Amino acid sequence: MSVEELIKEDKKYVLHGWGYSDITIVEAKGAAFKDIKGKEYLDFLSQTAGVLGIGHTHPKYVKAVKDVLEKVSHTLTMFTNVPRVECAKKLASIAPEPLKNNCKMYFSCGGSEANETALKFAMITKKKKEVISVYYAYHGGTLALSGLLGQSWHREGLVRFPGFYQIPNAYCYRCYFGKEYPECDFECARMLEWQIKCGSAKDVAAFILEPIQGNGGHMTPPSPEYFKIIRETCDKYDVLFIADEVQTGMGRTGKIWACDYFNAKPDIMTTAKALGGGMPLSATVIRADLVPEELTTAQWHIFTMGGGPLECAAGAAAIDVLLEERLWENAAKQGDRMTKRLKDMQKEHKLIGEVRGPGLFIGVELVKDKKTKEPATDEATQVFMKCLEKGVLFGLSNKAGVGNVIKIKPPLVVTSEQCDKAIDILDEALTEVEKGK
Ligand code: PMP
Repeated sequence: MSVEELIKEDKKYVLHGWGYSDITIVEAKGAAFKDIKGKEYLDFLSQTAGVLGIGHTHPKYVKAVKDVLEKVSHTLTMFTNVPRVECAKKLASIAPEPLKNNCKMYFSCGGSEANETALKFAMITKKKKEVISVYYAYHGGTLALSGLLGQSWHREGLVRFPGFYQIPNAYCYRCYFGKEYPECDFECARMLEWQIKCGSAKDVAAFILEPIQGNGGHMTPPSPEYFKIIRETCDKYDVLFIADEVQTGMGRTGKIWACDYFNAKPDIMTTAKALGGGMPLSATVIRADLVPEELTTAQWHIFTMGGGPLECAAGAAAIDVLLEERLWENAAKQGDRMTKRLKDMQKEHKLIGEVRGPGLFIGVELVKDKKTKEPATDEATQVFMKCLEKGVLFGLSNKAGVGNVIKIKPPLVVTSEQCDKAIDILDEALTEVEKGK
């Protein structure tokens, strides 16, 4: 089949829900991939927002999956399987406090399923039905979760779950209260208490939060104090705190979890993407003492494909590679180098409004004017497209956030040379767009 035919048939038979590009990847290694036409790219997105944490086709990962596949490809969810136990034990051993070696986890196939599981668990065990999230959040593509996503368009034409609310997120660059950190006294975090006290039916089961927001545009709370307020509020009103680490997890922020970075202390953590490293695997990791005995064996929640031997072998291998190669350290090192250079570039480039980290979870927010902070959304798209043409795939918060953030999240195995090259190209693209080329 020719490339043209392939693309024609793709368009004819496949329903695309998230935009379209005819780039067809046929080979990939580490932080680089090649398309069907032979063009080489640097992958500074890790495909879908951080899936390739350990990089493309890591030999240990490939071997682990192949070894299992040759013996067993799927088993009934209610049966035990060896990779599932190994993966669970490994994940428990690296989980953030207070979940570390003190948790039970439910495996599923993706971030949406992990979050659905967390919410269902919270509602069942707390016997309450309301849930609170924040503006510009992303937690998944299901009907229920759309009621918790950052912007109204996610719900257009759909039914919103009653009792699903949102409060302002920690977006210091564009503070909703017109304040500045630290004088703001974390007004955004304190909105959680206001929402529970004044805006709920006293029926709040859970508060769900990405410790650093991914799709929205890499928005980073200013300090651990933000999470201390969230934790105290959740304790005061008997609300479960769910940390969605689907994008931030597995070493990306320079720590294994963003929760470690902020000492966030969640009751439940959800993780996916880099956990499976390309295989569909996610986990809802719940503090052990919150799990009632009857839920450990009852039929209360079923996904056919959750936690199969193949996916769990992939997850266990991804954790092994993370630990053996101490990849969070490279994330911190490369992230610091790139962030420092981007901050220098900010002085030269009129489009760069803010550079946010930490680690390899970098956001570069583009503005038309540094004083008015008018979002440079068209320019961000142009920069993104130019970089792609020049051979670097970055992320872009086009519809998910304000729409003007270039997101930088390469695999954690990325080298200094690859980082330098990618930022050179970004620099070049910014200059061209600024000059209207
Ligand atoms: N949570 C976060 C923070 C995400 O970024 C995503 C996906 N972008 C999800 C949940 C949903 O994951 P999935 O698409 O695997 O269902």
